[in-house]
Amino acid sequence: MPKDNYPPIPLRLSNDPAASLHILTCGYGLGFLVETRAGLYLIDCGTPGHEKVVFEKMRELGRNDLRLIWITHAHYDHYGSAARLRELTIAKIGAHPLDADDMIHARSRLGSPRSYGGIYFALQPLVAFGRRLEPTPPDFTLEDGETLERFGLEATILHTPGHTPGHTSVVLGGGTAFAGDLLGGFPKPALQSLLATEWDALPASLEHLKAAKPERVFTGHRHKPVSGEELQAISW
Ligand SMILES: [Zn+2]
Repeated sequence: MPKDNYPPIPLRLSNDPAASLHILTCGYGLGFLVETRAGLYLIDCGTPGHEKVVFEKMRELGRNDLRLIWITHAHYDHYGSAARLRELTIAKIGAHPLDADDMIHARSRLGSPRSYGGIYFALQPLVAFGRRLEPTPPDFTLEDGETLERFGLEATILHTPGHTPGHTSVVLGGGTAFAGDLLGGFPKPALQSLLATEWDALPASLEHLKAAKPERVFTGHRHKPVSGEELQAISW
């Protein structure tokens, strides 16, 4: 099966039981496209130059109403295509205020590495050489506990810092969550262990996500979600 041809995943939002999720491979990152009757919503959008993947999916769905792009954190592989997508759609870009400045200045701060996380310091400039980040000022910012309901999406933003200062997770009404790079690990899910701007903040962020009791969690770089049970078993 081609990697971008996974079947849509049912989401069971209480205000739209027919909503579904499409996972898009956008360069070195993933875009999580939530399809509802009220509009399309994108959580993260991959590296620069991969907006075409989102447009192809929108064409396939026969939709042009991308209303929102929520950025979990200001890293190259999570907001890279956002500026271009905003130019070509009606979408607004949202993020936590503590990562907004990096997005405004087209930065992708990696913090301090552990284990083999140092490799990203060498890789990021190479990957970014031909496809630079564009300044991407958010249209709006949200703090912990605020929702996306004014855009028609039943979703709560959780501030889960550590990987970056303004890193967030998104919890949808039906129990599906998106944790950006708070979680990693392969094959067993684990707390982020490679890159952080504030390592000491990660355990509390994990507990914050656990307390929301999601049924499943999609992480930033894998198509397969972490189950609620697996999440509760992650230690720090
Ligand atoms: Zn990241």
